[in-house]
Amino acid sequence: MYRLVQKFGGTSLADLDAIRHAALRVKEAFLDKQQAQADVKGLVVVSAMGDSTDRLVAQTQAYTSNCQQRDYDVVLASGEQVSSGLMALALCQQNIRACAMQGWQVPIYTDGNHSTARITDIPQKNIVAAWRSYDIIVVPGFQGISPDQHITTLGRGGSDTTAVALAAAVQADICDIYTDVDGIYTADPRVVPSARCLDQITYEEMLELASLGARVLHTRCVELAMARSIPVRLRPTTNNNEGTLLQQEGASMEQPAITGIALEDDEAKITLLGVQDRPGVAAQIFTPISEQHISVDMIVQNVSADKKTTDVTFTVAKKDLASCMKVIKDCPITYSALRTDANVAKVSVVGRGMRSHAGIASKLFATLAAHGINIQVISTSEIKISLLIDQSNGKAAVRHIHKAFIEQ
Ligand code: ADP
Ligand code: ASP
Ligand code: MG
Repeated sequence: MYRLVQKFGGTSLADLDAIRHAALRVKEAFLDKQQAQADVKGLVVVSAMGDSTDRLVAQTQAYTSNCQQRDYDVVLASGEQVSSGLMALALCQQNIRACAMQGWQVPIYTDGNHSTARITDIPQKNIVAAWRSYDIIVVPGFQGISPDQHITTLGRGGSDTTAVALAAAVQADICDIYTDVDGIYTADPRVVPSARCLDQITYEEMLELASLGARVLHTRCVELAMARSIPVRLRPTTNNNEGTLLQQEGASMEQPAITGIALEDDEAKITLLGVQDRPGVAAQIFTPISEQHISVDMIVQNVSADKKTTDVTFTVAKKDLASCMKVIKDCPITYSALRTDANVAKVSVVGRGMRSHAGIASKLFATLAAHGINIQVISTSEIKISLLIDQSNGKAAVRHIHKAFIEQ
């Protein structure tokens, strides 16, 4: 049996014509496989149409006081419910035996963390039973059901994760994620028009790029694909290009110094000046922050000049800035000043090739220096370097780095 999972993002389902077009892509892929193999079954995962989730979020904001996250999820999940029904209807019109199954019918079990729920289990039983009567089952992305039977959502962009989790559950032969670009590019093609589409990328590099701001794939979808070795392909909805295959590192894969560049402008910088330089202070700052479930990204602590005080700088998501400031103000530490800056951007370069190419960091710093861009914070790992700069320089920095490393 050949099991095919296809996911269509909101950008590919903007209106009824777009849904019809996506249904034709499903039919095409299904019939194509059927010619080679008799027993083909498919799962189609859909996002909400166009920007309808943004509109649903805005509607919930009319009632913010004492808002129950549970009801927020009821509203948000409705976008995918509509598109799943419409996709099933469009497929039936194409004479494909298709039906829609909602998250609770599959069921897609999640934990109870509304609006950021994680998938815990997807039993195959109901899908396999439905495949006895239908060839394609359409499932709304982004939603599941909590242990106490409430609708949950997985976090913005979460339909990618639904697709990969379903692919894992049914041991799919391929998980094709259709979107509005030809594949994974060396940088966001909207920012760098000369960016190149990659034929393949390792899970590890894609995971870094996604978590560093390349929103083309949901980070948790890449994490899951990597953990379960699911073959995932990012493909265009509007043409037949093969797209980009996510895979394990192969001996024959090229190792350019830099595979891709990501830009994140959703972070804010916090600096504590004149913090006491003694054991335990960092823990006193960061423990209460983590207890509030605030993720801290880059952290820099300066070497103390007088051996008494030091400065600590770190970044959090912009949405967490106000609550993080409250935590710090309640923190029993002394400091001489507290500064914040929400006008920052993080530019990151990612590549397995960094393990074998020397001098990437110095070339990167020289590239920004040549264009008068000041670097505020630097953080590195084995296959990435991230730089925090002024937000107004973000896109230009990506273009300069792309030119220096990828277009030379
Ligand atoms: P969908 O609605 O299909 O989920 P998204 O908007 O979530 O689509 O993701 C596709 C977008 O991701 C593209 O339009 C592109 O602008 C952006 N993007 C960011 N970084 C990259 C990259 N490295 N390669 C390709 N696309 C990228
Ligand atoms: N519709 C949701 C969103 O816009 C989930 C998704 O599209 O992946 O975030
Ligand atoms: Mg997306």
